[in-house]
This record gives sequence, structure tokens and C-alpha cells, in this order.
Amino acid sequence: MSQHRFFDPHIHMTSRTTDDYENMAAAGIRAIIEPAFWLGQPRTQVGSFVDYFSSLVGWERFRASQFGIQHYCAMGLNSKEANNEGLAKEVLAILPTYAFKEGVVAIGEIGYDEITQAEERAYQAQLQLAADHDMVVMVHSPHRDKKNGIVRSLDVAQEVGVPMEKLVIDHNNEETLEDVLDRGAWAAFTIYPNTKMGSQRMVEIVKRYGSERIIVDSSADWGVSDPLSVPKTAALMLEQGVAPDVVEAVTWGNALSAYAQSGQIDVEALEKAPTIDQSQLFSDNSVLRGQNPRIDQPVVN
Ligand SMILES: [Zn+2]
Repeated sequence: MSQHRFFDPHIHMTSRTTDDYENMAAAGIRAIIEPAFWLGQPRTQVGSFVDYFSSLVGWERFRASQFGIQHYCAMGLNSKEANNEGLAKEVLAILPTYAFKEGVVAIGEIGYDEITQAEERAYQAQLQLAADHDMVVMVHSPHRDKKNGIVRSLDVAQEVGVPMEKLVIDHNNEETLEDVLDRGAWAAFTIYPNTKMGSQRMVEIVKRYGSERIIVDSSADWGVSDPLSVPKTAALMLEQGVAPDVVEAVTWGNALSAYAQSGQIDVEALEKAPTIDQSQLFSDNSVLRGQNPRIDQPVVN
């Protein structure tokens, strides 16, 4: 039997379409986390971050709900834009205004890109914010010099005093997994289509390491990526004989356990089938363009 619900704990829906939301819901994706990150085009003023952060807790959360998907987010200054130090300072100053809002499950995605001093300063400051408020942290790891970047991410988080069970390191591969697991942090894997870190490699990893503290996500954004990476990888795992409880842990339960530490996730509510009411509006705006709204009757349990 195939698994009926999934959690994609890293996806940038701001860059995706309503078709994606429909396909994700149909594939069983019931909840997602959208971490704040960069948008391809560098931002030039703090107001752009204000509006972006507002949309993550506002419009995008609403938009997801209209397709039956529970949307959570992580707030942070991404590593790439941390290198614009003047702007970074302003963004870090407004971050606490957004970090504690409803639906924010972590500080993230933060960490290193080119492993510069400016990135490190922004990373440290945000780890401190997380540590001070007992928050979960989602760490982006660099695509170049990944192993060093990850070891340093772990070291700095430990120095600041973020408990390892509150630290999720993302974009791992076979060479970094043991570093992360040995420290007691969560190891997330981003499955990109047509790359080395594809679904097949993920199958091999869980066959070798099992499911403990391992998380699968799509990191789908405005680049070549697949919002269905999580259910597709789960299907391949089951097809190749991975035990259903292992598949469920890495595509549902583990991410829930990690991020529910925020106190923002009602795990029991997520277990129930979602009901959709597309007659709802957000600031007078609907996701519909003249279509008939889908209005589900509430499920009686
Ligand atoms: Zn991302």
C-alpha cells in the first residue's frame, strides 16, 4: 500500500503555481515549510524583506490553505544576501518582528553560501536569536565546499549553544551525513531531478543508514526542481523494498518531530484529511478567477 500523506519541510511556494499546489495535494502532500531565502534578484532595501516576510505568514499561507495544504514557514536572512552587510544589518533588526508570528516553525534558512565572514556574522546573530527563544534552526549548506561548510555550521551552532536536537542541516549528501548525525542534529536531503542527489541515491542512503533523524525534502523554488520530489522518492523507496515505517519516518514523521518542537504544529490536526473552502478571502483577494469555489463539508469524526 502506498503512503497517503507527506510533509515537505523545505519548499519555496512563492515561486510555484496553483498547478503545483493541486498536484502536491493530489500526491498526498499535506503540510509544507517555506523557509525565507533569496529570490534570484538581489533585494536592494529592507522594505522588500518586510513585504516578503509578511507574505510568508500571510498571503502564501492562505494560498496553500485554498488547496488543502497546511503552510508553515521559517524566517531568516539567507546567506547569499548576508553579504550585503549594510542591508543585512537592517534585515536582522526587523527579523524578531516576524520570527515569532503564527506559523513560523524555525529560524531559516540560514548558514553559509561562499563561507565569508559576513555570512558567518549573520549566521551567528540568527543562531543567537534562535537560542535565546528556544527555536528550531534550518541550516542551508553551501553547494561548493559542502563538507567544510557543514562542519563549520555545526561548530558555530554548538558554540552559540543551539541544542543539536533543534538543528536541521539541509542539502546533505553521503559525505556529510555522518558528520551531522554524529553530532545529534537532523540531516535533511534535497532531492533535485536529474542531478546526483536524486531519488535513487536517497533510497541507497536509507537502506544503509535507516531513518533516524533523516528527512527528505524538495527545496523546489524558481530553478529546475520538483515539488513532488518527496512523494516520488517515497514511491521509489517502497518499490525497492524499503520498509514502510522507514519511508514514513523520512517523508512525514521526522520532519514533524523536528519542527513540532516549535509548538506551532498541531500534529493531530494534520492527521485528518484537509477540508477546503475556496469561498474564503485574504485581504479581499481570492485564488479564483471566476471559477466555482470548492467548499468541502467539514469531516465528522
Ligand atoms: Zn531553500
